[in-house]
Amino acid sequence: ETMINQIAAGEVIERPASVVKELVENAVDAGATRIEIATSGGGLTLIRVSDDGGGIPADELEMAVSRHCTSKLANGIDDIRTLGFRGEALPSIGAVSRLSIRSRTAAGEPVEISVEGGRVSPVRPAGANRGTTVEVRDLFYATPARLKFMKGERAEASAIADIVRRIAIAFPAVRFTLSGSDRMTLEFAPTDERLRRVAQVLGAEFPENSVEIDAERENVRLEGHVSVPSYSRANALQQYVYVNGRPVRDKLIAGAIRGAFADVLARDRHAVTALFLSLDPALVDVNVHPAKADVRFRDPGLVRGLIVGSIKEALAAAGV
Ligand code: ADP
Ligand code: MG
Repeated sequence: ETMINQIAAGEVIERPASVVKELVENAVDAGATRIEIATSGGGLTLIRVSDDGGGIPADELEMAVSRHCTSKLANGIDDIRTLGFRGEALPSIGAVSRLSIRSRTAAGEPVEISVEGGRVSPVRPAGANRGTTVEVRDLFYATPARLKFMKGERAEASAIADIVRRIAIAFPAVRFTLSGSDRMTLEFAPTDERLRRVAQVLGAEFPENSVEIDAERENVRLEGHVSVPSYSRANALQQYVYVNGRPVRDKLIAGAIRGAFADVLARDRHAVTALFLSLDPALVDVNVHPAKADVRFRDPGLVRGLIVGSIKEALAAAGV
């Protein structure tokens, strides 16, 4: 069982940022309004994610760290409203680190469980506020080969900050903080306006240096903002793209954005974007791979055409 979980961990947990992604998504799924992330050693020494969400009932805590146990398939696999549903993250993390979870539901007693290199402790009473705190120490200590692939603390810490920014844009009503000795400090106050969160993440000057996109083709909708050419960047790291509310990094979409800007940007420049694509969930698979952010569209040509067409039109209408 530990070995199966370590193998699964190799798929789901590539680096500290993948742990942060999974834990933050769990906090979002739990209805948190406040998510606090702290890291040290680029997340390899410590990742701690605290939330004020619904918590885990004492009698479900052991299941939560067991393989393929998820509380999130109530409506069936075809109606997934949560970010997670595979029940793989916590057991995978527990197989390759020292994991501890403290949690308290509104009605229940606070409880704690720990997992060390796959060995699960009994559930014990704990002190905890309402919500859940997950601590991951010594990530990959149990799989030294994986440790060798890490790029160094600074690179891992900036990958963590990147993942927090990406998720934060998707959930503007949630307060996010990132702190800790890695000193990649972020703080995003809750807001009910998506553009305000976008500006918190991409910079207060982004909105005024962008054009608005709002277009629809055959029930596929594209909204958001793309930068004007003068606000471009030397890399594509500031391209934030969401499909049905989930952050994605997808070649087709990136290629379409590049195509839309081909006439107005030099080849080595990249637009800054915050783009939100929404379409019938049956026409897109956002879960091609548990850890990757790729998506597969039923009609890639339609999506590409919408992105290229609407961006070009918006730039032309703005006279840029
Ligand atoms: P999944 O998210 O795919 O269900 P995970 O391994 O990430 O699988 O989590 C397992 C289960 O643990 C979840 O289904 C949920 O019931 C519970 N859980 C994990 N993190 C939290 C959290 N922060 N708050 C409340 N419940 C949580
Ligand atoms: Mg999960």
